[in-house]
Amino acid sequence: MAQNIFDCKLPNDEGYFGEYGGSFIPPELQTIMDEITEAYHKIRKDPDFIAELTDLYQHFVGRPSPIFHAKHLSDKYGTDIYLKREDLNHTGAHKINHCLGEALLAKKMGKKKLIAETGAGQHGVALATAAALVGLECDIYMGEVDMVKEHPNVVRMHILGAKVIPATHGRRTLKEAVDTAFENYMKDPVTQFYAIGSVVGPHPFPQMVRDFQSIVGVEAREQFSQMTGKLPDNLVACVGGGSNALGLFTAFMEDESVAMHGVEPAGRSLDAGENAATMTLGKVGVMHGFKSYMLQDEAGEPQEVYSVASGLDYPSVGPQHSYLKDIERVKYSYIYDKEAIDAFFELSREEGIIPAIESAHAVAYALKLAKEPNIGTILINLSGRGDKDIDFVVENYGKDYGILS
Ligand SMILES: *Cc1c(COP(=O)(O)O)cnc(C)c1O
Repeated sequence: MAQNIFDCKLPNDEGYFGEYGGSFIPPELQTIMDEITEAYHKIRKDPDFIAELTDLYQHFVGRPSPIFHAKHLSDKYGTDIYLKREDLNHTGAHKINHCLGEALLAKKMGKKKLIAETGAGQHGVALATAAALVGLECDIYMGEVDMVKEHPNVVRMHILGAKVIPATHGRRTLKEAVDTAFENYMKDPVTQFYAIGSVVGPHPFPQMVRDFQSIVGVEAREQFSQMTGKLPDNLVACVGGGSNALGLFTAFMEDESVAMHGVEPAGRSLDAGENAATMTLGKVGVMHGFKSYMLQDEAGEPQEVYSVASGLDYPSVGPQHSYLKDIERVKYSYIYDKEAIDAFFELSREEGIIPAIESAHAVAYALKLAKEPNIGTILINLSGRGDKDIDFVVENYGKDYGILS
């Protein structure tokens, strides 16, 4: 590896990025979390572990993912636009990068089973894939409503040998899946490993997931320099929990000439419940074991959130992003559903690449940015491919784009 992906200054020993992060969990769970932190600090410096993970990145995931110069968009907008092709990874998105890391760590710690919640099923499929490869059992918790909606992903998880456990209370979607997963984790946190799906949760997860994802930026920095002789002027990534964004940003953090843009979902509107624009509308608070900006109702409970991209509708954001917002290292903006769908079709039709709707938020923002004078080059993290979204998009928006069903 050109640069060690585990080489980064933050967080501090207590897991804080400035005032954000930390670990707000029951004492009995803190003991387990301390063990995970200790094991992680050991393996991140272990050459054997790094070699094993690097080998899997190369031969299982298909890394390095290429950088593609989007020439038609570049001509159309008058500035050079590039895509980091995480959509070409095995399983179709960046999530496999951290799932493999977490699965290997769990295995080394002697855990028997990986567990996680999933909304649309993307994290569930990536984790079930890693579990099959590494040789661990896997339980995925999913809302009953989501199981019907995202049936193909449920089938994938079953084929991969994972158990999909329905959450049957309340609205039977992601929040209830989190509740059920957490409840079951608490019953046996010794043999089970809760594999968090983004740079969120208590320490050490925001750090660990970032480290596993930072291979994206390490590769991109070298590839882009080789292609153009320079660093990119702008990086753009969508932000749900924030793992693909930090994956790209981390290797460029010290490069002052590189502007960074995080893009959140504005959903249908900026009214409460209609979006998941945490940075734009949120306040600082504690949720899911860590301190960060978050969308809360008056009672301090997580607010209802919505986005056309199910991978982006999270009411908080990774603590490092909150820190990067405050120190103004990253500029956070938002994109509405409709703008993301426009970009979904524009990238498909201009370049022959169907993006995930999540990634289409980054593309939409980049195309706005491209219209600003003297903006320079733009590198977009194309976090995933859109195969999972095609039926939904055509059913709901096809007519507007000349598709008759
Ligand atoms: C899950 C997902 C995201 C959002 O997660 P982050 O942790 O914010 O990266 C973005 N893009 C794709 C394709 C996803 O599957």
